Amino acid sequence: MRLYSTLQRELVELPPAPSTIGMYVCGPTVYQRAHIGNARPFVLFSWIRNWLRLSQYDVTYVHNITDINDSIYEAAPGASAELAARATAWYLEDIRDLGLGMPDHVPKASETIDEIITMIERLIRTDYAYAVAGDVYFRVARHREYGQLSNQRPDEMEEQEPNPLKVDPRDFALWKANKPGEDTWWDSPWGRGRPGWHIECSAMAEKLLGPCYELHGAGLDIVFPHNENELAQSRALGSEYARIWMHNGMLRFTGEKMSKSLGNVRTIRDALERWGRETLLVFFATAKWSHPIDFSDETLRAAEARAESFREIFRRPSIPAGGGEWARYSAALEDDFNTPEALAVMHEWRDHELLRRAFDVFGLASLAELAEAPEEIVELAERRKGARGASDFEQADALRDEIEAAGWVVRDVSDGFQLVPKP
Ligand SMILES: [Zn+2]
Repeated sequence: MRLYSTLQRELVELPPAPSTIGMYVCGPTVYQRAHIGNARPFVLFSWIRNWLRLSQYDVTYVHNITDINDSIYEAAPGASAELAARATAWYLEDIRDLGLGMPDHVPKASETIDEIITMIERLIRTDYAYAVAGDVYFRVARHREYGQLSNQRPDEMEEQEPNPLKVDPRDFALWKANKPGEDTWWDSPWGRGRPGWHIECSAMAEKLLGPCYELHGAGLDIVFPHNENELAQSRALGSEYARIWMHNGMLRFTGEKMSKSLGNVRTIRDALERWGRETLLVFFATAKWSHPIDFSDETLRAAEARAESFREIFRRPSIPAGGGEWARYSAALEDDFNTPEALAVMHEWRDHELLRRAFDVFGLASLAELAEAPEEIVELAERRKGARGASDFEQADALRDEIEAAGWVVRDVSDGFQLVPKP
């Protein structure tokens, strides 16, 4: 399998199976209900985990929670820890409801403080970092490869975290002294304070995956400075760190002017309530992971129709697919995890067994489970059949409406009727 890596700027081959794959995916900063765009890396890497496991790899999937950050202090003055805990629970609930299973580890920055302090001490010992007035900074100039991931020349980079006490304006914080209004802190060799965002990820990844692992995932918006700094810190410690760096494209809101029903669908929770998990998962699969994806009523309705067309196949007899069909599906995923291509192959199939196998990778097994209508709905459909038999079409139509209002669609077939959930 090969995947496009931001670092090498080309497709990079995974080691052959069976082998061990460590996967670290940058998670959200928790201070509000997570934005629907935050679901994209979680969904993508859950699928990749599923596919790699099916391909006999031994995968460990780590997805962190950033629960120490400026945005949390700003969002809840005096109660940041409570807000972070609440928003962590929201996020875990949201990703659980996407129905893809949970990552193997969901570490929190606030539970990794000892490892973070040890890592900073190691960087100071090798002169990659220095302490000044309770802060600790990473010495960017000492790391020759700095700028490689985000493809920037070090001499053209903007200043991060301005502070006149820094040796070089490009240096970034590993530890920040406690400031008024910051209501969470930890004691450290540099005084009371808290870690910077970037070192949190380096420490959580090393703690759970070791100093060198295969795959690092994140959204394209955090290549710089977050991932660049993460890579610099870990490489400065002498490890290769992540070999492949995948950055998913951004989710864009489009077509809003034309649509009222999209309303304020902005969070994973809203989207789950408005569209349901199956439609959302199909939606994410319709775009190549590295490209932007447009979130609109139109694209979601199209995804809903595609999910429904899969369900429809299971209401009809299975037609075995010819040999080589699984290989077509597999080839699409092996080639930079091309989900739109894999989806196109799946739409050609009428083979239930093959589709079930393919659905498993995408968390869509439920599309193959035909819902059974409850007894009272079957009874209404029976009464409607009777009304039709007696040519009482007015009554038959009224019963059809009643069935639809209860969330079911009745279809007339040669030997009676069929009840399917309303799409
Ligand atoms: Zn990160």
